[in-house]
Amino acid sequence: MGSVLIKHGTLVTATDTFAADLFIDAGRIAWIGMRPDANCPEADTVIDATGKYVLPGGIDVHTHLDMPLRGDLRSVDDFETGTIAAACGGTTTIIDYAAHSHGESMEQGFETWRQKAEGKAVIDYGFHMTLSEFTDQTLHGMERMVEQGVSSFKVFTAYPGRMMIDDAAILKVLKQAKKLGALVCVHAENGHIIDVLVEEALHAGQIAPQYHALTRPSIGEGEATHRVITLAEIAGAPLYVVHISCCEAIQEIAAAKQRGLPVYGETCPQYLLLSVDCYYLPPEFEGAKYVMSPPLRERPHQECLWQAIQTGVVDTIGTDHCPFHFRGQKELGRQDFTKIPNGGPGIETRMSLLYTGGVETGRITLNRFVDLTATGPAKLFGLYPQKGTIVPGSDADLAIIDPSIATIISAMTHNSHVDYSLYEGMRVKGMPEYVFLRGELIVREGKFVGKSGSGRFLKRPPVSR
Ligand SMILES: [Zn+2]
Repeated sequence: MGSVLIKHGTLVTATDTFAADLFIDAGRIAWIGMRPDANCPEADTVIDATGKYVLPGGIDVHTHLDMPLRGDLRSVDDFETGTIAAACGGTTTIIDYAAHSHGESMEQGFETWRQKAEGKAVIDYGFHMTLSEFTDQTLHGMERMVEQGVSSFKVFTAYPGRMMIDDAAILKVLKQAKKLGALVCVHAENGHIIDVLVEEALHAGQIAPQYHALTRPSIGEGEATHRVITLAEIAGAPLYVVHISCCEAIQEIAAAKQRGLPVYGETCPQYLLLSVDCYYLPPEFEGAKYVMSPPLRERPHQECLWQAIQTGVVDTIGTDHCPFHFRGQKELGRQDFTKIPNGGPGIETRMSLLYTGGVETGRITLNRFVDLTATGPAKLFGLYPQKGTIVPGSDADLAIIDPSIATIISAMTHNSHVDYSLYEGMRVKGMPEYVFLRGELIVREGKFVGKSGSGRFLKRPPVSR
């Protein structure tokens, strides 16, 4: 592996912005300083970053690659196409949600996900373990997972009979997580409310995509968020609330933080930039592209989320990347919105959408951008300072962006395998020109130039909080 000098760039971390040259050796950041400096060695490769930002490679802690849903349905990006898309968007690490089937051990689920990723992933990856049921094996399974470097778990208050576990089980999981130094992630929507509203809607012949949103009210998300925060407080455990979509949930997170509880929030670009209006887009059934859970909300929720980002109530930006083709997959729900596979693409556009919607508009600083997309996730999920920042000794995972260059998002040109984009035709800045993974150039002039299988599994240790 050759050495690299990135010169004349503007380096950006979660706290600082400064002009400096950066020297990479043996896959790590070896030296940061100003030229001319006698200490700076000669490099095999030199990149001129004049007028460009050098950022820590992004960390997306919410992805679902190669994820089975039901029957033959699975998300259409595997660990190769999904991580190539991620890399081209400036993301160099993902944490994907591994899962075990009912009746299967967590070890088996973990092994299945390792096999999906090995030899395919082009960026580094870790796993959370999804707890889709609670059995007498669960607490022991969590212990075994932490030993394997899977130090975070996901629970659901939605999908009764499939993914939901009850409050008693969630409390036990939280207590165990506290003991193990693990972090519990929660999908917080009230599944019982949703089931009743869905049944009523179908009974009334309301089958179109917009009923997906109308049967998942935001107050149900707020209620579930409040309830799980209460359970976490009783357990004395930290809690990470995934894909927050609404004001009600934000208020609960804000109140918990105010009281000093270790409660963390994640939102995603789609909740910041898209609204419930998307479900009514012509032609008929176009709205199916936007069917995801939680659903897109009315516009005022977007302002709430942006404010929460500005005030630190939201800690990270993930994607919930879980793409299904419109043709042949989303279309399964033409006669019944509950048959539309839930999820959308996002892994490739996370950084550029937040840059464009946040930094370009002046809503957030470039430092806050780095914190939300890299440093914050690295700290919460046991990857810091190996990942998520620019300091000597860290992995040389870097994204170089030219703030003067704009790109048009389109399914015709994106790297994800999925056949549509949620942002077709949108003009964005912040797509990277160069991306490095542990010192190897994997994206050059916006094109993937890395190798399949060069991503490594990241064992994530417990984090003391
Ligand atoms: Zn998800």
